[in-house]
Amino acid sequence: MIKKILFTVVFLVLFSPLFAQTYITNVTIADVEKQKLVPNQTVIITNDLISKIQSGKIKIPTNAIVIDGKGKYLLPGLTDAHVHFFQNGGLYARPDVINLSSEFPYEKEMKLAHETMEDKLRRYLQNGITNVIDVGASYSYLKQRESFKNKDFAPSIYMTGPLLTTYEPKAYENLKDEEPFSLVKNVDDGIKMVQEQLPHHPDFIKIWYIAGADGLETEASARKNLPIIKAIIEEAHKNNLKVAVHATERITAQLAVENGCDYLVHSVEDEIIKDDFVQLLKKNKTILCPTLVVYNGYENTFGQKLQMSNHELQAADPFQLGSLLDLKHLSDTLLVNKYKRRIDSEKEIARINKVNAITSENLKKLSDAGVLIATGTDAGNIGTLHASSYLNELIAMQKSGMNNWKIIQASTINGAKILNKENEFGTISVGKKANLILLDANPVDNIENVSKIYRVINNGVVFNPESIIEETPIALVQRQLNAYNFRNIEAFLEPYADDVEIYNYPDKLIEKGKAEMRKNYAAMFEKVPNLHCELMGRIVQGNTVIDKERVQFGKEIVEAVAIYHIENNKIKKVYFID
Ligand SMILES: [Zn+2]
Repeated sequence: MIKKILFTVVFLVLFSPLFAQTYITNVTIADVEKQKLVPNQTVIITNDLISKIQSGKIKIPTNAIVIDGKGKYLLPGLTDAHVHFFQNGGLYARPDVINLSSEFPYEKEMKLAHETMEDKLRRYLQNGITNVIDVGASYSYLKQRESFKNKDFAPSIYMTGPLLTTYEPKAYENLKDEEPFSLVKNVDDGIKMVQEQLPHHPDFIKIWYIAGADGLETEASARKNLPIIKAIIEEAHKNNLKVAVHATERITAQLAVENGCDYLVHSVEDEIIKDDFVQLLKKNKTILCPTLVVYNGYENTFGQKLQMSNHELQAADPFQLGSLLDLKHLSDTLLVNKYKRRIDSEKEIARINKVNAITSENLKKLSDAGVLIATGTDAGNIGTLHASSYLNELIAMQKSGMNNWKIIQASTINGAKILNKENEFGTISVGKKANLILLDANPVDNIENVSKIYRVINNGVVFNPESIIEETPIALVQRQLNAYNFRNIEAFLEPYADDVEIYNYPDKLIEKGKAEMRKNYAAMFEKVPNLHCELMGRIVQGNTVIDKERVQFGKEIVEAVAIYHIENNKIKKVYFID
């Protein structure tokens, strides 16, 4: 080993042009463990590692990349500790929750999830998330993630195989390598299925500990299945694999932790936890991921009362985001109304408010007691979009009463601890991976500043976040369509050029410039009720996108064709044909 290190050092010194060095000078570092900001530091990155941190004057080699960190804040790269790559986050992600296969077949959705995995990874990196933990994948995703190893644009991916469960929703049966669940009927099954996962190299094992699906009371059901849960945990540990458990009731969570669960992937949501539960988690060093925003995603989508921040409208996959509004025009109005009525019922609203109040109070209790909390979104579920929903989760954690330093710890070092990777990443220390984000503003003052990213550094490679995802004509047009439907004037104007021209086809100029557009559209967004634009068809030809639109405009319905011309990554001209 020493020989190898010596050789490496000699090699690096002799062949210095071959290794890349980056100097981030005069920067304020967030020491997430000590919860303090350290100003005026220079951080030196050699290849993919942090090789030195020092204050004061420093001599910089001529061939090094230099980033002036003055006035900026350096944070370890973030971790989203609960995502699902097999789910896209849009309306068609969960056939077991709402079956819309007549509108969009689930086979197509599954294919799309694979095709957009690279896009999802790029979005995570763009948002400063350099590590993602998929706590419920399938064999095909364990395979696909291999293709992203050593790709600079991809965060580090940690992943389980299919969820081991005593209950499987019908919609997911017989999907072979795509199946996100493995049904376990008894203790022998449990052991066998852990072993079956081993050749697929999961980073850990996930259990879906569902109580009550067998018709029994929660506690009786939980205890009945306990021997299976216990056997899975033991077999996983025997093979040096940690175990994550989905357990949303206090009893299932408690039984799981008492029997060796390492990571609880959700909050306890059925009761306010007591001190003995808090102490149990503390004693066992169990990490808990609260996933606060995921229910709201469902509730607001089905209730058709979604709100999207400018950040989400800009950072999310625009097609998945757009699909969340499809309920406004789908032909199966019977089904759509059934979901809307259910979500809008007094009983359901009361239930959701109660769950939110309990999870929020439980989080504060655990965090105050020093239980390790890890930030995770459950992204991929309907209404919880990959990467862009992370900021919402941070804001929800803050509303529960966690302070910003604790939220920063939950989003960095605690995420690394889930898989004992705290010596590899999660803090800014010599020898750790150079996975970092350089922020324009202080995240301790305002947690939302983690989205003000100047540079992302992944495996030592420096990225301007704007360059991580290639802009396309179709994405520009889709973003303005989404913002139109959300009546968000800032997000609506973002894809347009400052000197945009709007014509009635073929050549009658009706508007010129963003200022004029702002005036007209802002007034319309404010005044017109029931505004909704449905895309009936789309043709993309080079820098031109032609949309056939059906617009609900108050009581009127207008059909039109819009031709968008894109220049220099902005919409420069629009022609409307009535
Ligand atoms: Zn999940």
